[in-house]
Amino acid sequence: MPPFEHSQKMYEQACRLLPGGVDSPVRAFRAVGGSPLFMERGSGSHIYDVDGNAYIDYVCSWGPLILGHAHPEVIAGLTGAISGGTSFGAPNERESVLAGLIAEALPSVDKLRFVNSGTEAAMSAIRLARAFTGREKIIKFAGCYHGHADSFLVQAGSGALTLGVPSSPGVPQALSALTLVLPYNDLAAVEDVMHRCGSEIAAVIVEPVAANMGVVPPAKGFLEGLRKLTREAGCLLIFDEVITGFRLGYGGAQGYYGIQPDLTCLGKIIGGGLPVGAYGGRADIMMLIAPDGPVYQAGTLSGNPVAMEAGIVTLGLLKRQGVYRQLEEKAEYLDRGLARAAAEEGIAVTINRIGSLLSMFFCSGPVTDLDDALKSDQEQFGRYFTLMLNGGIYLAPSQFEAIFLSLAHSREDLDQTIAVAGRAFVLMNKEKVSRE
Ligand SMILES: *Cc1c(COP(=O)(O)O)cnc(C)c1O
Repeated sequence: MPPFEHSQKMYEQACRLLPGGVDSPVRAFRAVGGSPLFMERGSGSHIYDVDGNAYIDYVCSWGPLILGHAHPEVIAGLTGAISGGTSFGAPNERESVLAGLIAEALPSVDKLRFVNSGTEAAMSAIRLARAFTGREKIIKFAGCYHGHADSFLVQAGSGALTLGVPSSPGVPQALSALTLVLPYNDLAAVEDVMHRCGSEIAAVIVEPVAANMGVVPPAKGFLEGLRKLTREAGCLLIFDEVITGFRLGYGGAQGYYGIQPDLTCLGKIIGGGLPVGAYGGRADIMMLIAPDGPVYQAGTLSGNPVAMEAGIVTLGLLKRQGVYRQLEEKAEYLDRGLARAAAEEGIAVTINRIGSLLSMFFCSGPVTDLDDALKSDQEQFGRYFTLMLNGGIYLAPSQFEAIFLSLAHSREDLDQTIAVAGRAFVLMNKEKVSRE
């Protein structure tokens, strides 16, 4: 086992001042045991902790680093931008440049507003949908995560799921009562609600490919059905593409599946590793936002030139021919390698993959919604996580997160990952035998 003394010390220090020693609960190792590693630097597909251990990184800052760590062109762009000042609190041209790239990539987006996180994007999109429709209820799906705004902390995925907190104290009952939660991929449930109270629904918000309960792709016809049902009910369809945007393809999930939502939430990749979110969509809806309209939403650092530059460079690089095919090939290679290694050891896993988004559940499939995802053997995942970590592979410390690949991951990285996983499976089997 590699030494973790410095991380341990820093963690103890952090715990004195930061709840749980972290600024985001998903970073703690509560679900897998042990304490979090403190990172010193990242480069390409690798991340290095403060004890000098190197890891192949499959977290990639939870999705944004699709180019890998410290991409030279991103760093060069950032260095140039920073030297001109970090924030003006006044318009700068880079906002329109990045907005132009996004609008060009997503035909459903006529106009957009930049914010500083995916949470802000989803929260603001819902406010806008409520204002536009004059209705208050929203529909979300169990296991989908839309950030930590009050309205969404009802059967949320990701960290909330890992911690076993399906919703959160501090969220007013009156507010969460306005959030209807339905099973993912269950079109009949949506139809039923629309039948009973469709005229009260402001919006249906969905991760077009769910990636916060592990990866769960939409069933055939699910997104099409949502599009049809929302149109009939006169409510908005909001795609939360904070993960899928510029990940599933340059046109996001909406391009991949050929469906136009009314509003789209973005984050992660569009910020190239800096704090950026955005929401956008139909011009007739977006015109309600202040100062054009009455729906208030603001941000001191929104659209700052540094964050915009990171996004501009990142999207510029993603626009190149063949990028998404490369990503998908890497993901497919990893998918096959892991599946083969598990099969050789007779370990029951289900790997869900769509494009470069994948995750492995420790149960037999299929995994099509949250109930299925919860069947994954958490104890087995925890053991797997630790063995991978000790073998130099940094996975998200939770069963319910995707494996985030980047363009920087090489064939050697993938081969090494598969080999370490193979050894982990052997050990897991041995331990199982010795327990019995
Ligand atoms: C990460 C995520 C968010 C929240 O974004 P933050 O920048 O962490 O606030 C919202 N929706 C989805 C689908 C996400 O994966």
